[in-house]
Amino acid sequence: MAYDPNNIFARILRGELPCQKVYENDHALAFNDINPLMPVHILVIPKGPYVTLADMTAKATAEEIAGFLAAVAETARLAGVEDEGYRIVGNNGRHANQEVLHFHVHIFGGRQIGGRMIKS
Ligand code: AMP
Repeated sequence: MAYDPNNIFARILRGELPCQKVYENDHALAFNDINPLMPVHILVIPKGPYVTLADMTAKATAEEIAGFLAAVAETARLAGVEDEGYRIVGNNGRHANQEVLHFHVHIFGGRQIGGRMIKS
């Protein structure tokens, strides 16, 4: 699927829409989800124009991929969830109900998460 440069996260990256920034490095931006499902609910997005994880791994440099992954870990540390633990989720494509077509990872934490991985 072609990348839409006017998706919401692309507009946040360009500064056209605001976000509550948690962390940023050369290759990623982390900000609070606008509709939090947990006490800690942060999105981490790569700065490059990638629709899905497969798109990113096909097109991004090793440095970009490493920088993105490091940003996920650093964001969790800054959010204070590293010690108690957290869950990372990346919705990819239709079966996963990916809404925003710019690849992103959700960080969930701040309370005990249910034992079941998937509900319905
Ligand atoms: P997904 O289903 O993985 O594509 O989830 C997209 C997420 O982006 C949802 O959890 C939304 O609440 C979140 N979201 C949508 N617009 C914004 C925004 N402007 N700022 C922060 N989060 C947003």
